[in-house]
Amino acid sequence: MIRFDAISVATPDKAGLTNEYAALDTLLDAGDLGGALRAWDAMRRAFETWSALVHLKFSQDTTDAAAKAAREYADALAPEAADLETAFKRRLLALPDQAGLAREAGGHAVRLWRTDVTAFDPAIKPDLEEESRLTARYTEILASAALSIGGKTVNLAGLAPFAEDPDRTVRHEAETVRWSFFARHGPELDQIYHDLVRLRHGMAGKLGFSNYTPLGYRRMRRVDYGPDDVARYREQVVTHVVPLVTRLLEQRRAAFGWDRLRFWDEALIDPAGNPKPAGGHDFLVAQARTMFDGLDERLGEFFREMESGGFLDLRNRPGKSGGGFCTSFPTVGMPFIFANFTGTHHDIGVFTHEMGHAFQNHRSRDLPNVDYLWPTMEAAEIHSMSLEFLTWPFMHLLVGDAAADRFRRMHLIGALSFLPYGVCVDHFQHEVYANPNATPEERHAIWRRLEQHYMPWTDHGDLAYLVKGGRWQAKPHIYGSPFYYIDYTLAQCCAMQFWSRARRDPKAALNAYVGLCDLGGSAPFQELVRDAGLISPFADGALADVVREAEAFLAGA
Ligand SMILES: [Zn+2]
Repeated sequence: MIRFDAISVATPDKAGLTNEYAALDTLLDAGDLGGALRAWDAMRRAFETWSALVHLKFSQDTTDAAAKAAREYADALAPEAADLETAFKRRLLALPDQAGLAREAGGHAVRLWRTDVTAFDPAIKPDLEEESRLTARYTEILASAALSIGGKTVNLAGLAPFAEDPDRTVRHEAETVRWSFFARHGPELDQIYHDLVRLRHGMAGKLGFSNYTPLGYRRMRRVDYGPDDVARYREQVVTHVVPLVTRLLEQRRAAFGWDRLRFWDEALIDPAGNPKPAGGHDFLVAQARTMFDGLDERLGEFFREMESGGFLDLRNRPGKSGGGFCTSFPTVGMPFIFANFTGTHHDIGVFTHEMGHAFQNHRSRDLPNVDYLWPTMEAAEIHSMSLEFLTWPFMHLLVGDAAADRFRRMHLIGALSFLPYGVCVDHFQHEVYANPNATPEERHAIWRRLEQHYMPWTDHGDLAYLVKGGRWQAKPHIYGSPFYYIDYTLAQCCAMQFWSRARRDPKAALNAYVGLCDLGGSAPFQELVRDAGLISPFADGALADVVREAEAFLAGA
């Protein structure tokens, strides 16, 4: 069995990497393409494992000076590694026998590399390092939050139970505390984002693009759709989802007897109080074990490996970076789940969402190419968001018998309500990068306008920072992973298709799901979707169909 604490990778340096790449060139010179590709794959797996470990350890304790120094070292080395890697990709793509390369490496890998080489040039190395530094500063500011509420001091993640408390004054206080924190750091957060936008626009210029958007798509390795497809999808959300969410919120307002539904009411989905996990950390881990055993033996066995190998860090604690994610160590083929338990339904997503990523990564560990270990993010989020639906029949284990139906309802309403917000975050970034000379104030105005378009019900009440248009600053993707957000909304459309299939034939849906996980990143998004028997979210009617079924389910039909 593999143990997390036994993973060790030597710290790489520029000279060592340069020598390793020189050895690859020697193999290519000798005509040994297969040998060069295998050696390169092993090198990249080792580098990625080391980099993932360094970033994970920083997230586990952002106040640890050694972890921070290691992260800074890794962030400085990453552009050097990218330089060597891109040069090698260019050499491969210049080989006369491209058909032979595609046979040996995989056709999709070659297509990804063709994209990658257009997104990097040695001239942007200092920019990439600066980008990492700015992003790390954003993470550090958010992780520094020490907020007083209900007689406790909590970080931003720790606000979650207060933000959905059945008591309206508590919810209001939670949002007041949250957005006062953002207001206090507003000038610095504005400056960081302003610097990031200018930096990214500059990088795009150095690479020959007119603005950052095409570069952003390439950095996300999107090879089979573009901004026009995404814009059409956003409008499908406006047509099919926004009216439904408006109606659902109006029902909620009426059920509670409020005169208006305010921003701080949106997180309280269930009039009886949002269902919560029926226990804490140890309880949930034990129940999740039972759930996965019951769902599928492949999932059950894998969860036990994660648990006993120490690949879970789920408790919230001071200094820990916010949010949850799944990372992986390709040398050993094991992923790691990082989360911050808060005692709310969000904890359940750790098992149903992050486990989906982890399971896919594990299933794909032996694919012959490290490029296939993860698919692009919109496909990766299908694995995670679909598992949230496929685990529905087992929810009584996590929330108790009495709350299981209410949990499923809350999850579905949450999934629908997320779509308008998700496309708003995406549209915002398209406008930001199309207008690189905008001032921070103008960016807040862009957000305000788009918020009205996608979430016309929004009523910020007395939360001044939100009235100003500051909500987007709480979203780490906007700072650290530009254009990574539409992915969740595309994946949600696919996940709801799995939900629909599982209602008719759970076994077949689960097998199709595992089949999709097995494909990893061996094909682009729409091809993976097709192979899993799903309809592309870009196809007419794909979103409308699942939304119609969800509406009928919520109406009790
Ligand atoms: Zn995810």
